[in-house]
Amino acid sequence: MDFKSYIRVIPDFPQPGIRFKDITTLLKDGPAYKAAIEELTTFAKEVQADVIAGPEARGFVVGAPLSYALGVGFIPIRKSGKLPYESIKAEYNLEYGKDALAVHVDAIQPGQRVLIADDLLATGGTITSTIKLIEQLGGIVVGAAFFIELSYLEGRQKMGDIPVKSLVVY
Ligand code: AMP
Repeated sequence: MDFKSYIRVIPDFPQPGIRFKDITTLLKDGPAYKAAIEELTTFAKEVQADVIAGPEARGFVVGAPLSYALGVGFIPIRKSGKLPYESIKAEYNLEYGKDALAVHVDAIQPGQRVLIADDLLATGGTITSTIKLIEQLGGIVVGAAFFIELSYLEGRQKMGDIPVKSLVVY
């Protein structure tokens, strides 16, 4: 499927110079959303993921249906201050801005094979700190799956040997 044709590009959002990739136009199309999740599910099976982790908020929209399709658990990676139980956190830089992500200390069993899911790989800052959190808890990051990759920001290069799957590359 030509997933790119379902993505809307908004120039200068949320600030001048950013070309925002709007996935809501893909999500609202049932067959396109289903096909996108199915393609990422195939990848998750290849890397033998036994749990999915996704950073809020758009990582939930990609990660949760993947978990459901595989019949494995989902770990929400949240903005700092949102999780109710004891958590660890890691700072990260966005293509626009700075933030911190957190995860519950008991979210992952040591040795679990974790696939990270998000809507878009830009600079890789979000994913790098998600990897840090997972590895700190003893998880093994076996892959990262995205709807979109902005290859000119070279996020993939930050991920070392971790296999990366993206459906659409700009
Ligand atoms: P990064 O940490 O730089 O890889 O940024 C990834 C996150 O920022 C993704 O989860 C996206 O939700 C968001 N993001 C960054 N750049 C864009 C963009 N050009 N269009 C849409 N979302 C973006």
